[in-house]
Amino acid sequence: MPSNVPNRHTNQLLLRWLIGGVLLVAGLIGALWYNEHRAISWKDTLDPFYWWRRWHNEDLYLPQQDLLLHGNHQLPEVALTFDDGPHPQSLPSILATLQRFHVHATFFDVGENMAVYPNLVRETLAQGNEIGNHTSTHLRLPRLSPLELHHEINDADITFYRITGQHLYLLRPPGMDYNDRVLAEAKQMGYIVVGYTVGAKDFVTDESASFIVHRTLDRLENGSILLLHDYPDTARALPSILEGLAKRGYHVVTISEMIAHLPLKPRLAAVQFLRQQGDPYFGPMVASCGTNLVSPSVVKVRMKKEYKLSQSN
Ligand SMILES: [Zn+2]
Repeated sequence: MPSNVPNRHTNQLLLRWLIGGVLLVAGLIGALWYNEHRAISWKDTLDPFYWWRRWHNEDLYLPQQDLLLHGNHQLPEVALTFDDGPHPQSLPSILATLQRFHVHATFFDVGENMAVYPNLVRETLAQGNEIGNHTSTHLRLPRLSPLELHHEINDADITFYRITGQHLYLLRPPGMDYNDRVLAEAKQMGYIVVGYTVGAKDFVTDESASFIVHRTLDRLENGSILLLHDYPDTARALPSILEGLAKRGYHVVTISEMIAHLPLKPRLAAVQFLRQQGDPYFGPMVASCGTNLVSPSVVKVRMKKEYKLSQSN
């Protein structure tokens, strides 16, 4: 029946379009699902060099820049970091929750907030947490002149030193905005720059606590560094985040503990750098005969406040 031939042809064409459409929709849904749950960015996922570096543990810590990007892939541990504080509206609640769950976190505090709330700085440390430098006034570092850049980092350290008698050794640039110049200056000033792998987007003010929990827990893997903020919404989300971490079998560590747990090669590089700066967590450098070494860079860190203007000219 010749009249059926075009009909059959049309049906086959329709069927192909239908199958193609279903596959396309399924692909889109799969991509969206993956995007919601991925621990690795698209850029890295598609980059064979990333997988090569990951295989060789070269994606964790970059010794040239002293940049920490990730914890040990083999250990079920994550580091909680809280930026922008200390804030009296949220920090007491965050500290109480951490204490209730018997875990410690790393707080990247802003110098001008530390100056206003020195007791919160002391309380944070007294409970076994650690504090890193999140600059003096939260300016984007690549836009600053060399002198402004130095002061923006160093003034936060001066404030912290006045409150605690200790220096800062970890730095998180505001907005994770940095370039080679910022990394070089941070290294020169004795800092390890700390990145993050999971951002909870908890700085968006109208996001609910459940959004923060969902976004944080969905993207975890061994060695993740969680970027949270010292804000009230995050404080409300924190108990559920910690419950979720425990349920998934993750230990919560500070950044210093995460560094101490890195695989051998990156660990040696990071610990040696911090020891040279005099970081008390890792202790001073010890010579093979057992006597303490004071390396030249320890002296440099003690002199950190006295910046030579000529360096910037
Ligand atoms: Zn910040």
